[in-house]
Amino acid sequence: MHCASCALMIESKLNKLPGVKSAQVNSATEKATVEYDCDSCDSEKIIKTVKGAGYGAQIADEETVDEHQSQHEQAIKKERNQFIFSLVLTIPVAILSMILRDESYQSKLIQTILAGIVQFYIGSRFYVGMYYAGKNKTANMDTLIAIGTSAAYFYSLATTFLIEGQVFYETAALLITFVVLGKWLEARVKGKASEAIKKLLGLQAKSARIIRAGKEMEVLIKEVVVGDIVVVRPGEKIPVDGEVVDGYSSVDESMVTGESIPVEKKVGDKVVGATINKTGSFKFKATKVGKDTLLAQIVKFVENAQGTKAPIQKYADTISGYFVPAVVALALITFVVWYFLVGASFVAALLAFTAVLVIACPCALGLATPTAIIVGTGKGAENGVLIKGGEALEIAGKIKTVVFDKTGTLTKGEPVVTDIIKHGTRNMEQVLEIAAAIEAKSEHPLAEAIVKKAKEEKIELLEVKDFEAVPGHGVKGNIKILDIGYWILFGNRKLMQDSKVDIRLEDQKIGEELESGGKTVMFLAVNNELAGMIAVADTVKETSAEAIIELKKMGIKTLMITGDNKRTGQAIGKQVGIDEVLAEVLPENKADEIKKLQTGGLKVAMVGDGINDAPALAQADLGIAMGSGTDVAIETGGIVLVKNDARDVVRAIKLSRQTMSKIKQNMFWALFYNSVGIPIAAFGLLRAELAGLAMALSSVSVVLNSLLLKRRKL
Ligand code: ADP
Ligand code: MG
Repeated sequence: MHCASCALMIESKLNKLPGVKSAQVNSATEKATVEYDCDSCDSEKIIKTVKGAGYGAQIADEETVDEHQSQHEQAIKKERNQFIFSLVLTIPVAILSMILRDESYQSKLIQTILAGIVQFYIGSRFYVGMYYAGKNKTANMDTLIAIGTSAAYFYSLATTFLIEGQVFYETAALLITFVVLGKWLEARVKGKASEAIKKLLGLQAKSARIIRAGKEMEVLIKEVVVGDIVVVRPGEKIPVDGEVVDGYSSVDESMVTGESIPVEKKVGDKVVGATINKTGSFKFKATKVGKDTLLAQIVKFVENAQGTKAPIQKYADTISGYFVPAVVALALITFVVWYFLVGASFVAALLAFTAVLVIACPCALGLATPTAIIVGTGKGAENGVLIKGGEALEIAGKIKTVVFDKTGTLTKGEPVVTDIIKHGTRNMEQVLEIAAAIEAKSEHPLAEAIVKKAKEEKIELLEVKDFEAVPGHGVKGNIKILDIGYWILFGNRKLMQDSKVDIRLEDQKIGEELESGGKTVMFLAVNNELAGMIAVADTVKETSAEAIIELKKMGIKTLMITGDNKRTGQAIGKQVGIDEVLAEVLPENKADEIKKLQTGGLKVAMVGDGINDAPALAQADLGIAMGSGTDVAIETGGIVLVKNDARDVVRAIKLSRQTMSKIKQNMFWALFYNSVGIPIAAFGLLRAELAGLAMALSSVSVVLNSLLLKRRKL
């Protein structure tokens, strides 16, 4: 593709194809994303349609680093060679006509031949483009350049052989040379813009040292399978994702998470492929290989994101759609006014006509959005902030309210048992024993804390029957002690109230006091009689308070949402400095609370880990899935944060704001340049070949401006 209008044309062709639900064509990545019904359409038909429109197409397989790189390098090299060839032919034409001003017949003949090669060999792509555009009843940049240069060339041809008058072959030849120069530069800077993916792909280790049949051997990365034991020595790259089974070390995970401080790894800890082992040696069991690794998923995420369009691009697309026909009309008017009304020479009128055609090409406008999105999403990926696409990016820039889930998002999500309170005849150990038995069946972080405590105390787990988890309340079940069955309830006040378990004032007070200190208190009932209480504390992450301060500075309101009781919620909220706390919200009501906040059109972001908050993530204008998040969270999230750090919410919003302002800047300059250039050209003040140069440079400058995003601080 040469231009944004190419992308638009292919897009509309694909969208008209029966069975195609939606098609998006990205002019910067030169990729199309097509959603279609398998029964009535297939990839072959899609490719045929693209080819019918005059372009090449193939299915974008998962590329390896080398393929990705070499394809792109080849494209750049081709543009460069074309430019050099064109320049070599054009220089003598320019010397003869502009410096020597040689108007002899021989000079004209040499120019006819040299400029002819430029016009019909190098410039053939513009004729081909014009042909296909015409076939589709549209006009594009190729049309403009083909008409403009042909006018100059054929008029000169006529004056060489048939009629009296000046030749200006150099105009056509220089114009084409400049446009090709622009294309070459553009391809080079576009490559820079999409460097993030290349970098990510390049992180992949080539080989791995594994133990099979008791022997250590080196194999290619492709040959590693799940379950293999992998050996990693100091300074080596960790080849795939896995879990440490032996040894101890610290690992530099900055390439994946953006976090520069090395992370300690011991037995049981997870390691991520492509990260670098620093000091120790260890062995780990491979749990994810090939396209399932975190790195591979990040690459896919970023690739998808870069192929999408931001809603704001619709403006650019609409403008581009009207621009080309309008420009042709304008150029014709220019010619008519100059030649017939002003009475200028045919040559002058023709040159003004050509200059208008060329300067008005909306190419830079077409690049404004996609290049900024590529750079923005790429920069995000390098910092552990994965943005799903243009839409998420645009909304993230407009967020006015951020709602955080408490457990695992603002807090570490690793609660620890702090107090065990007995009640009645049972001792503390028995309280823990019963609670742990029933919690062993639950996956709630609170349950984990209790089971862990029991393990530390070397308490054997009792058998549980009829287990039931009541979301947002607690757990229920039957246990047997010495052949006698007991009905157990363990959870919050609501769970107790619902079963009419009496909590005496004295116990209420103890509970409330613990909660005011930010602890979560759970009540244990045996046969509907209160038997004890267990308090757990979940420490706030050091980074949470910092993130809240930053968000407030940016004028964003912060809220915390939790199923935990009001006192605990308030206490934690105070620790992190949050504006407002929504407590005792049942999991199924979290989405409703978000909906309430959205009334009045305020854009709300929800940050969570996907454990009982996936519907809220989906309801929010922007779902931000955090850290070790569940698969559900990653699916529903518009933004995924690789690290478990609330400050990345700030980075994501900042990056989005920066990218959006870059897009607007790009659009402004592209349009500004077109609207200023057109009158200058129409008044005959801009030589046509310089119009070509200006047009080429404007595209390059838009891409360069997008690249500046890389340097902005997050
Ligand atoms: P959060 O919003 O913090 O993720 P939940 O909605 O999962 O919290 O739970 C709300 C409250 O319900 C908890 O604070 C706790 O008191 C009680 N609860 C939920 N699950 C359990 C469980 N497995 N064991 C004990 N209490 C529980
Ligand atoms: Mg939660």
